[in-house]
Amino acid sequence: MRKAKDNKNVSRRYYRPTITTCPRCGALLRRRCTLWSKYLITLEGRFHVFSLGYSCSRARCRQARVIYRSAEAEQLSPKGSSFGYDLIVQIGRWRFWEHRTLDEIAMLLAAKHVPVSRRHILNLISDFLALLRAAQPAKIETQRAYFKRHGMVISLDGMEPEQGNEMLFLVREANLDLTLVAETLYSSRADLISRQLLEPVKALGFRIRAVVSDADKNIRRAVETSLPGRPHQACQVHCLCEAGRPIFEADRAMKTDLRRDIRAKLRPISRVLSQSSPDDLLLAVLTDYAEALRDALRADGLSPFELAGLKLYDELQRLETSLGRCQKKGGILSWRLCSTSPRFATAMRISTLN
Ligand SMILES: [Zn+2]
Repeated sequence: MRKAKDNKNVSRRYYRPTITTCPRCGALLRRRCTLWSKYLITLEGRFHVFSLGYSCSRARCRQARVIYRSAEAEQLSPKGSSFGYDLIVQIGRWRFWEHRTLDEIAMLLAAKHVPVSRRHILNLISDFLALLRAAQPAKIETQRAYFKRHGMVISLDGMEPEQGNEMLFLVREANLDLTLVAETLYSSRADLISRQLLEPVKALGFRIRAVVSDADKNIRRAVETSLPGRPHQACQVHCLCEAGRPIFEADRAMKTDLRRDIRAKLRPISRVLSQSSPDDLLLAVLTDYAEALRDALRADGLSPFELAGLKLYDELQRLETSLGRCQKKGGILSWRLCSTSPRFATAMRISTLN
């Protein structure tokens, strides 16, 4: 059975119009109604959002019946959606610019304490494509002169989140990183890719100089049909990701181990810190260190070259060296990174900061 969402502890946000006085008569505006309210999931978490309607407080004002609302509230999310634009755009960015998989996106969101199911992430990627589609014609128009002179190098990026389900496709101009077509296809057949992705790009009327994509068979066939003779290169990001996968996986495993060990050791230290007296000069320094450590633990990798495990390892060494220097100066006696010795708690009480 589906569990009802716990809405009791969701914090509320109220939005009011930016003007506080009536533009016609200058009298104060007064709150009249709640125009709408909804639970909204953003990158910052989940909120209960209220858009409040205000109107002129003078009953005899000729604009007394005009209701003013907050523009900011209207810009939080698409109409009828319970997900914020910030979340939709971030998910689209992760997917199409950073080439993240669905599982990685789910993990990134969970790390931000924004749990969104795989199904919803898929819907949000579709929403992102719709937003992109709506904004593109004007952007392409501004680059008309450039394309006329230099032509286009186009990149095709497709994602099939679940076998047999729809595919999400993005066609971009690679030099300007400008989206040309964003489309959901119900199959990855070559003729569909040709008709719905490549033909619209051809119809823009610019010279297409080359194509970049992954080595997918259907995409290759579609390019041969729609753009015969055009150079077609396998995307280097895709190739490098494939080649670097064993290293990336090994690094990820190391990161997970490091994280688990350090977190277990940090927990009792955090407890001691939270119980120390706020006058303790040592407290501020150690709290900073603990925060830096927590921050380092959040480090995240990106295939193929950004290895989070190595990053975390370097960061831990840096912190250890820094703590070592502090101890040498006589600043901190018995704090050592990862120290779990029971003496530690006692040492914490002795404020030794000079
Ligand atoms: Zn008025």
